[in-house]
Amino acid sequence: MQDQTLEQTEKTFQDYVLQTYERIPLSFKRGVGAKLYDDKDVDYLDFCSGIGVISLGHSHPKFVKDLQDQVAKILHVSNYYYIESQGLAAKKILELAGIKNGKVSFYNSGAEANECGFKIVRKWGNKRGKYKILTLEQSFHGRTYGAITATAQPSLQKGFYPLVPGFEYAKDLDDMIRKVKRDPEVACVLIELIQGEGGVNALDKAKVKELEKTCKEHEVLFMVDEVQSGIYRSGEFLATQIYDVKPDIISLAKGLAGGLVIGASVTTIKDALTPGEHGTTFGGNALSTTACLSALGILEEYYNSGAVAKTVKKMDEFMDEILKEFPNIFVSKEGLGLMRGLRAKDLDTQKKVIKLAQSERLLLLKSGRNVVRLLPPVIISDAELEEGFKRMKNALKKM
Ligand SMILES: *Cc1c(COP(=O)(O)O)cnc(C)c1O
Repeated sequence: MQDQTLEQTEKTFQDYVLQTYERIPLSFKRGVGAKLYDDKDVDYLDFCSGIGVISLGHSHPKFVKDLQDQVAKILHVSNYYYIESQGLAAKKILELAGIKNGKVSFYNSGAEANECGFKIVRKWGNKRGKYKILTLEQSFHGRTYGAITATAQPSLQKGFYPLVPGFEYAKDLDDMIRKVKRDPEVACVLIELIQGEGGVNALDKAKVKELEKTCKEHEVLFMVDEVQSGIYRSGEFLATQIYDVKPDIISLAKGLAGGLVIGASVTTIKDALTPGEHGTTFGGNALSTTACLSALGILEEYYNSGAVAKTVKKMDEFMDEILKEFPNIFVSKEGLGLMRGLRAKDLDTQKKVIKLAQSERLLLLKSGRNVVRLLPPVIISDAELEEGFKRMKNALKKM
């Protein structure tokens, strides 16, 4: 089933797969840790982790074993029954996030986690004469209709009008704070603490705190999209913990189940939704929530050993080296923890860096208009991290 060459796979795609992506001509057959191997068994260092998904790297032995055991036992029953791993995964998320009196519901993606949040907001707002959801320019919240409406980037909305009513956009946090104060119809603000697709912008902590305070004062819900920044990506379990804020609603997905399909919405609002008001066929099933429990267990142990903090520090040092050695290519470093960006001097440079890195067998992502994004596996080894930056320097020398 999986023994095609790259050329054969490309042809199959041309013939049968809808072209919603400009794909890179690479097809990986297997992965170990932060390394991926293509159809010719050439190794690539994965500084993308999918897009921040493969938090444990590829084929982590304990994770693989936990999944294999679960697949052989039970994959799926509907949400009309109690799914043991779903309950335990919810408990674990709340423990690690340090959230008391919270509740979790599970979905299949980040967009769906946000959609659940929107329904919670609207239900809450309907009783209070409030309905507007404010989001930030440069944000990204997913591809469903609600989520593209929340995503304040016209390029992702163009051609799909009409969008969902009741969303408005703020230029920046100051503008958002102003709008919360001025408009009594605002029910909720939604932000990413580190804007993953919009240039790996870490928002200003003091401003975020001011926004949270303003929301409390004006009876407006505070929702944070941690789909990308969550699950130790920022250096802590949630970026929310670094920013010292307590959102009413948090969306999670990407790294939450080590590569399995998952999304989760966490809320501290009492009885946010009641039976019959929301649902999902696949969300929270035995396989994905077992993966979630297993991944969180492994990551927690790794974090508690101090290893995440060490990797974060090393990463930052490597980024400083790059900035110092290649001042004509990059202007600044962005982001937090292991969710990082190097801002190239322009779009062309960004594209060229990613391409040259690929020919040095290092996989990087773009973000925003000119940022080269780095999202290595959270548990990447020192040797892999070092090798990755070595390959990056080799690429940059060819610019
Ligand atoms: C990726 C992402 C989403 C969308 O997640 P999907 O699983 O693709 O639906 C939403 N918000 C943020 C911040 C993301 O990075």
